[in-house]
Amino acid sequence: MLLGLINDKNRARPSFTGQRAICPFCKGELIAKCGDIYINHWQHKALSDCDSWKENEGEWHKAWKANFPEENQEVIITVGSEKHIADVKTNKGTVIEFQNSSISSNTIAIRENFYGNMVWVVNAALFVENLKIRSVVTHQLKFNENAFAHELDGSDAFYDESIQRYKEQIRDDKKKNQSIQWKLDSENGNLKSCLEASQSFDNFYEEFIEKLYLSALFEKVPIRNIHESIPDELKEKYKMCLTEIQSLSNEKAESENWLDVFSKYSDFHSEEIDYKIIPATVSFSSDKFANIYAIKKNELSTMFSNVISFRSKTDFDRLKSNPNYYFMTKKVDFEEGRKSKISNLQDQLDLLSQVRIDLNNEIKSIAINQLEVCSNACKNRIKELSMEIKKYEEIIGNLTESITSAEKSKVEDHEKILKTLEFKQNASDIEIKRKYKGLYLFEWKNERKSWKDSQKTIYFDIGKDYLFEIYQEGCLKKIDKQTFINSHLI
Ligand SMILES: [Zn+2]
Repeated sequence: MLLGLINDKNRARPSFTGQRAICPFCKGELIAKCGDIYINHWQHKALSDCDSWKENEGEWHKAWKANFPEENQEVIITVGSEKHIADVKTNKGTVIEFQNSSISSNTIAIRENFYGNMVWVVNAALFVENLKIRSVVTHQLKFNENAFAHELDGSDAFYDESIQRYKEQIRDDKKKNQSIQWKLDSENGNLKSCLEASQSFDNFYEEFIEKLYLSALFEKVPIRNIHESIPDELKEKYKMCLTEIQSLSNEKAESENWLDVFSKYSDFHSEEIDYKIIPATVSFSSDKFANIYAIKKNELSTMFSNVISFRSKTDFDRLKSNPNYYFMTKKVDFEEGRKSKISNLQDQLDLLSQVRIDLNNEIKSIAINQLEVCSNACKNRIKELSMEIKKYEEIIGNLTESITSAEKSKVEDHEKILKTLEFKQNASDIEIKRKYKGLYLFEWKNERKSWKDSQKTIYFDIGKDYLFEIYQEGCLKKIDKQTFINSHLI
């Protein structure tokens, strides 16, 4: 108790320890307690039936009451037959009760009912550990910042997507360009082959004509093109001509060979006729009996040799295997026959040679013409491919410019949006600070449920120079302690 009745008259604070006074409520005797540690106050001398609502007041309690004018402290309020001491009663009639310890919801209800117009100040320093308090402004500002950052990210992402798309297009176009470049390289190679073929056409043609029988499937330009442009009929004719020439040449060589072999046979002369003795190793057909002659071996070097001729095949066959005879042929018969054959073959070969020259000229003329066609086609392809490459290079150039432009726009828009956003965010932040100033979100672990049922305004004192008013469910409002006190001094 801060105020006692001194000399039964005025309520006053004690001025020295041991001073005596009377309790204004129960009229019991009071003894003063003064010191440096605690606020000077009165204590009942004996246990008394003073106000049952008043507990042993701690320093916190006394200090709060001392903040108000003495006439507002420890005011006795009487309702009907019941009376109690209000901690503070303001001039406006509001009772302020300072609650240090926890009390039941029933007690709270009874006191609120008794005082009517009242507020509570609760010593929350005792359970501040259980209060989780977050500034609404901080919370909202953070939320705001995220929202604006998101908007900025959206703008950046829009450009990043475009840039990514351009890059993919460039990659695709470069691939296409590369494959055209390969075609161009190959076409340049073809043109080079065509030009080389034209420059040394004879060498080229020689190589070409040798491959005329073979498939052109694996040949390169221009051999393949020329090959394909020569009619099959012409190829066939040329091939047949060569085959025929080869065959006749072989036959002629064979005959010439025979003549040579024959000339080495032994000579025999009789009655103005030259014979050639056929060696035993050479076999001949019985059908040729009319041109075969025989002579006894032992007559060969005598003056009286008898040359035998045959009238029939049977006649010949009778002597054919007789080892005592040489068989001969007239030199002139054999040589004339052979020479005439060789001459005949030569005539045919001369004819074929002319045919071959004609065919060759026909093929050569096609080849010359086709070589020109082929190199012109190459030049046209090269022109087309070069244009295509140029086209893709332009596209790639444009895409590269688009990327540069998008990157520039990204930076510009970023700055522009950032500026706008900063402006908007500042305005919004100001609005938030204004709207939510002094408001706090709070969670109360191990909540003292009795306070939940209170119908009156509750202030938490957590031992700082401000109070928290329970503003609404889960929400606190900060109020400066002095402001709170001042508001109740009017
Ligand atoms: Zn008393």
